[in-house]
Amino acid sequence: MVLPISNPTKSFWIEEASSALRDFRSTKDLPKETDYTENDAQKPRILMLEARDICGSATGRNGGQLRPHAYSRYPAWSARFGPDGAMGLIKHEMAHLLAFQDLLAEEDIAEEVCFRLGETFDAAMSDEAWARLKGAYEAMKKDHGQDNEVVRVCRLIEDTKAAEEFTQMKACLGAVVHPAGQVWPYKFVHALLRIVLKAGNLNLQAHTPAESVSERDDSGWITVKTGRRDVRTKTVVHATNRWASHLLPEFGNLIFGSRATLASIKAPEGFIKHTGAQHWDSIVNNYHLQLPPPYNSIIVGGARSLLVHSPQDCSPNDEEDKQFDGASEFFQSWPELDVVGWPGNYPAELAKNVDEGGCWSGVESMSIDAFPFVGDIPNRDGHFVTAGFSGHGMPRILLSTAHITPLILDALNIKYTAPSLVAPYPPLPKPFQATAERISSLQKINSAAIFEKNSKDCLESAKKPFCNKLPGRPKS
Ligand SMILES: Cc1cc2nc3c(=O)[nH]c(=O)nc-3n(C[C@H](O)[C@H](O)[C@H](O)COP(=O)(O)OP(=O)(O)OC[C@H]3O[C@@H](n4cnc5c(N)ncnc54)[C@H](O)[C@@H]3O)c2cc1C
Repeated sequence: MVLPISNPTKSFWIEEASSALRDFRSTKDLPKETDYTENDAQKPRILMLEARDICGSATGRNGGQLRPHAYSRYPAWSARFGPDGAMGLIKHEMAHLLAFQDLLAEEDIAEEVCFRLGETFDAAMSDEAWARLKGAYEAMKKDHGQDNEVVRVCRLIEDTKAAEEFTQMKACLGAVVHPAGQVWPYKFVHALLRIVLKAGNLNLQAHTPAESVSERDDSGWITVKTGRRDVRTKTVVHATNRWASHLLPEFGNLIFGSRATLASIKAPEGFIKHTGAQHWDSIVNNYHLQLPPPYNSIIVGGARSLLVHSPQDCSPNDEEDKQFDGASEFFQSWPELDVVGWPGNYPAELAKNVDEGGCWSGVESMSIDAFPFVGDIPNRDGHFVTAGFSGHGMPRILLSTAHITPLILDALNIKYTAPSLVAPYPPLPKPFQATAERISSLQKINSAAIFEKNSKDCLESAKKPFCNKLPGRPKS
């Protein structure tokens, strides 16, 4: 049983945004009941409880990369779900680029949330990485052909010089390039909440953890207990990510905390041309993007060549009140060591002091089968879940939410017309569905053995040359 701790390290995204909604409470007291409006049965009241400041967890602490797995998971996914199943998962992720674009245009907030679409790259920093990345792309192309709508927007840069030029990554051997986006996730959520609050039927409450939830009673009510008061409701949506199992013990062996780290580095305006990632092996990577003016910071994450030396500090681990030893030094040395043409006279400093949002840690919700859980919860009438996005929520959550909303409205017997905005997008992929079979089979998995193997793999990577001679690495 675990709830979000109240004193996580400070993230750049949250501190720099200075949002008026940060500690917002719509009303001084919680309502006694919600979901039900005597005067307007077609307009449900929504109560949103947030344990921390509003959007203070993964979405306020992540990498900002709206970066679909366009090809890199193809071999693993096609082995599990067949070529069409794998392509279905990829198309669902790719569709998020358009979905974000449409939604942000409709609400006129694209600029406010620093949204950009463009191309991203996976840069191979070793022969091992190049074989894996190129192999994944080739496997997808072999099964689906060059004319497939995803294959044709992905491309290889095989010439080393051209790859280095495109990626701006020193010593890059080759790269795979595909469409992707970037966004300020915290500003995105706060902008949407501001818009929904204006509509008038959302009650938003910061710093209010839900401590327990009941089953539906004979009159159809579910009781949510908080430290402030109990609230009655007809439906509950568990959008609680890593912490789902606190209220839903059946998710205890399904979702774990996995800690990661990022930093915000000062940079010359417009220096980084594309978002991207560097890969040395299947574990060791960095990823980065640059924010537009007036911010200009590079948000860089990963530092896996440092973190693999102490796997227990990452998974399973919920200590987001602690920095990783050496992480801020690692990130500050990264531009000069890794970025082509970094100006010698430009010191790569943190954009804020290390404990004021310059460098932070964050807990990713690690799903034991690597897929989120979305839908109505088996054997719990009126309960819905959308959680466990495993460090990769941005190209998955928006359309998962589009799937879940009609289920909730149906459960409340509310008549609605789906907005045209959601119509053109693919349905929820099967592996995301929170079915009874999936949940019960995952409950039997030996998760300790998975973490042990993961630790061993990290320590194997730690022995490789690219994980040694690192700035900021603790002396062994
Ligand atoms: C360091 C890091 C880097 C990442 N980088 C990327 C990236 O670049 N691209 C990408 O796609 N994904 C990335 N991710 C993953 C991405 O951030 C998540 O998948 C996504 O933010 C999950 O959104 P969510 O709304 O499900 O969860 P969250 O944002 O964690 O929201 C869940 C909310 O529920 C609240 N809560 C939990 N339990 C309770 C309770 N009992 N009562 C009340 N409130 C509760 C939490 O405080 C939290 O605010 C990263 C994650 C981390 C941590």
